[in-house]
Amino acid sequence: MNKQQKVIVIGGGLVGCASAYYLASEGWSVTLLERSSLGSGASYGNCGYVCPSHIMPLSGPGVIAKTLPKLFQRDAPLSIPARWDPQLWHWLLKFRSECREDRMNHAAEGRHALLQSSMELYRELVDAEKMECEWTDRGLLLVYQTKSDFEGYAKTVEHLRSRYSVRIDAYPDQAVTEFEPALKDGLAGGWHFPKDAHVRPDRLVEGFKQALGRQAVDLREQVEVTDIEVESGKVAGVRTSAGRFAADLYVVATGAEAPKFAKQLKLQLPIQPGKGYSLTYDHYASPPRVPMIFEEHHVAVTPFENGFRVGSTMEFTGYDRSLNPKRLSLLKESAVAHLKEGVPDQPTESWCGWRPMVYDGLPCIGAVPSLKNLLVAAGNGMVGLASAPATGRLIAELASGKTPHIDPDFYAPDRFRA
Ligand SMILES: Cc1cc2nc3c(=O)[nH]c(=O)nc-3n(C[C@H](O)[C@H](O)[C@H](O)COP(=O)(O)OP(=O)(O)OC[C@H]3O[C@@H](n4cnc5c(N)ncnc54)[C@H](O)[C@@H]3O)c2cc1C
Repeated sequence: MNKQQKVIVIGGGLVGCASAYYLASEGWSVTLLERSSLGSGASYGNCGYVCPSHIMPLSGPGVIAKTLPKLFQRDAPLSIPARWDPQLWHWLLKFRSECREDRMNHAAEGRHALLQSSMELYRELVDAEKMECEWTDRGLLLVYQTKSDFEGYAKTVEHLRSRYSVRIDAYPDQAVTEFEPALKDGLAGGWHFPKDAHVRPDRLVEGFKQALGRQAVDLREQVEVTDIEVESGKVAGVRTSAGRFAADLYVVATGAEAPKFAKQLKLQLPIQPGKGYSLTYDHYASPPRVPMIFEEHHVAVTPFENGFRVGSTMEFTGYDRSLNPKRLSLLKESAVAHLKEGVPDQPTESWCGWRPMVYDGLPCIGAVPSLKNLLVAAGNGMVGLASAPATGRLIAELASGKTPHIDPDFYAPDRFRA
């Protein structure tokens, strides 16, 4: 694949934006096709963590035994409604088989490379493109209500420190409230990852939009790709709501919806939509100082310049866009249980989005065997914002025949066939 050729990126979330950005930087003539407006999918209302600390995948030894009983609790952060969905049940069985030490460590290696590289790339990108995305270096604080959970995390702390040199500071007992005065008294403690950062996601998307404009990327919003035309083992063009488009190379970056092109790709991508919710409170005088995760509830809080966001929960309800009021009230209840001032009565915005979840905790980045001129960049799960730049850079390197800056084998889209 040569430079100066045309590439079409399908999907304008953060992964599609970053792919378009690095492809344009490599000299490709880029068209970005987005069904709605840029960054209107999961990239919109997420918690904005740029979190190289999120090395460990969801899967691991003991996870099933710990999670299953909680599934039946009213306030469980994870919800899997009983319904017949063969692809979801296949995904869940495969997730169970990933809950082994060797598989967990394999995923951790791949995640670490992607997240670490992304952090470095973000620092360059935000600076070079002057992105006004509320970039803030205050780390990330894990907060615990119970002593046993706080102390139970010490083993992971040791592993992250010794294996990946992650800096983690302990704030036991009242020290956690002294560190973050927005917290209530009487909590069990917190672990702080000072090297993490956060942004306001919609502002980050806006930063990408302006950068892509400067790179002369042909940005087409409100254009939905309805079909991928395949001829002689290659993509010949894409059919869209605004006519046919053709290029030399195609990148599928449609997040949780990437499996919808399985027939054309001749590949089942095991990506499930993991629905999460957020409540945003703008115009709030005294937001928390640091981003926090209330660990027992898996609820996240992100301070913004103008307020804060509470987000979380994971629902496997398929491609369902409805806002479940019960899930939203769980977010509120958790915030009230941890924050001195609770939350205002009415959020400025209630939102839900689909995390593109792969059962092994690694995204799908790279070529598919059946099509010579198509790459996939999808499945970045719970860290799609934090891992977008390295995903985009890897796509640009693979497209341009350059030596990849990180080992692409971890993310090969056809790794599931083995
Ligand atoms: C509550 C919540 C909190 C989160 N917090 C964080 C966080 O703090 N940090 C972090 O790193 N990650 C976080 N995530 C995960 C992160 O939001 C996602 O991993 C990331 O946004 C995925 O980006 P994406 O570009 O792959 O997908 P998306 O942002 O979903 O983008 C895909 C795009 O493709 C478009 N599209 C789909 N089909 C078509 C088509 N046929 N034609 C044209 N366009 C199409 C869609 O409209 C969409 O804009 C969170 C997610 C949730 C739900």
